[in-house]
Amino acid sequence: MIKGISASSGIAIAKALVLKEEDNEVIKKDVTQYEAENERFKEAVEKGKKQLKSTINSTMEKLGEEKAKIFEAHLFMLDDPEFVGAISSKILAEKVNAEYALKTTSEELASMFEALDNDYMRERAADIRDVSNRITRILKGEENPSIGDIKEECIIIAKDLTPSDTAQIDKKKVLGFATEIGGVTSHSAIIARSIGIPAVLGIGKEINTIKENDLLILDGDNGIVIVNPDDETLNNYKGKMLKDWEFKKNLIQYKEAESITLDNRKVEVAANIGSVTDALNAINNGAEGIGLFRTEFLYMSKDELPSEKEQFNAYKEVLEKLKGKPVIIRTLDIGGDKKLPYLPIEQELNPFLGYRAIRLCLDRKDIFKTQLRALLRASVYGNLKIMFPMISNLQELREAKAVLEECKEELRKEKIDFNDKVEVGIMIEIPSAAIISDVLAKEVDFFSIGTNDLIQYTIAVDRMNEKVSYLYDFFNPAVLRLINMVIDNAHKEGKYVGMCGEMAGKTELIPLLLGMGLDEFSMSVSSVLKARGTIRNLKYEDCRKLVPKAMKLGTSMEIKKFLKDSVK
Ligand code: PEP
Ligand code: MG
Repeated sequence: MIKGISASSGIAIAKALVLKEEDNEVIKKDVTQYEAENERFKEAVEKGKKQLKSTINSTMEKLGEEKAKIFEAHLFMLDDPEFVGAISSKILAEKVNAEYALKTTSEELASMFEALDNDYMRERAADIRDVSNRITRILKGEENPSIGDIKEECIIIAKDLTPSDTAQIDKKKVLGFATEIGGVTSHSAIIARSIGIPAVLGIGKEINTIKENDLLILDGDNGIVIVNPDDETLNNYKGKMLKDWEFKKNLIQYKEAESITLDNRKVEVAANIGSVTDALNAINNGAEGIGLFRTEFLYMSKDELPSEKEQFNAYKEVLEKLKGKPVIIRTLDIGGDKKLPYLPIEQELNPFLGYRAIRLCLDRKDIFKTQLRALLRASVYGNLKIMFPMISNLQELREAKAVLEECKEELRKEKIDFNDKVEVGIMIEIPSAAIISDVLAKEVDFFSIGTNDLIQYTIAVDRMNEKVSYLYDFFNPAVLRLINMVIDNAHKEGKYVGMCGEMAGKTELIPLLLGMGLDEFSMSVSSVLKARGTIRNLKYEDCRKLVPKAMKLGTSMEIKKFLKDSVK
């Protein structure tokens, strides 16, 4: 049995598909059989072309023509006699290994493109490196299957999965995944929960003991992976899967019900989404609204910045699907562990403390304004609320609101319709914002507490680092005190407060959050009905009494125990 972090609940049983770690390190070697080396290179190019053709077809089918074009450009490069010829010449003239000739030639070319004063050309540098890495992997015999092309049921084992890897997952084939790094709130975990497949993350180096085709039990509830289980364990787990299924079936009774306590305190249980498809899934699973639309996933699924029109269409579709229910759309939160290949950010020592979210948007007003204009234009199609992420001070909020005003002014001049009264809120996910939430509350319509980041910044614990994941704790008294303070400060100004971090769906904490007065709980779609069931079985007055007592406790363990003993 291998232990990791429980990142998405549920159980899966299937064979392991082990993704090899990408190693693009290349060592120069002198070769005497340089003709044969050149042949080896040409064969790798042919194999690369075959792979690309198949990827183009499947991408076209699943993700559309535009995405397929990226791979068409890669294929074009491998068909280019100048590019391939330059590498062959190097192998033959310098008598070096193919990997080295490929890497150095591609790097020279990529650096040349990067130096050009043209965004489009600069982005081609990434394509050259991509193609070069593909051929290097073939030469080294280290190819991975494309996740979108997986044909048989499996559990993916990998060092890490990028958001674009997870975006390709077909849950009928990929029954779950386990990774070496990452934690409860890394984005691969968030996506696993939104698709509804189990995931165990942050396993560490022990993950390397799992071999291709090992039979695995992935237990997302307990954060464990069992490799080649005996018959008894296998049968036990099959029994558990059946019980899980029955439990889920039982939750359906809450689908149309209100999120209301036994003594009539009504709150909202909403869903976090990352795409238009997720919105439909949210409604089908009983969400009363969207508490967080992570728009960066819209940007990640493209190979260039989405235009105003594309964004407008996506936001409009979500708003229309929600039929007047509240939809909080968060402006772009790129940076940290979320990257856009076409918008390179300089390497940073601390990306989570760096050029991220609103900081990037206030710096790149062109990107920010395109999104705000799209949002404003969509605002007439439903109950839209705009939310700014990573606000750390009042000045940033004012600047962001000023850009929004600028966009409104432009639309007025262009005689384009929008809702002038669209609500504007901020995420409280940085301790500095929580501490001055009294002043921030005066200048917003709502707050949404982003506990995923609030925890990492309050406790100074990287949400991605499994070595310190023991500190990443939903019950941390300092974090809970900040949350309590934020809710009080917002209510004093008559503003409502939601929570869209993963904590909102934690059953054990719902009584305390309810007692603090939280108005809206937004979570992964798969947790919505369970949370509603919990709320409907609680008394608000009892929950309120928990707060002063819990706030006096000094450790997470004490708070956890107190809640367990007090709430039956
Ligand atoms: C959060 O930080 O709690 C949050 C919801 O945002 P994200 O997880 O996208 O950083
Ligand atoms: Mg966040």
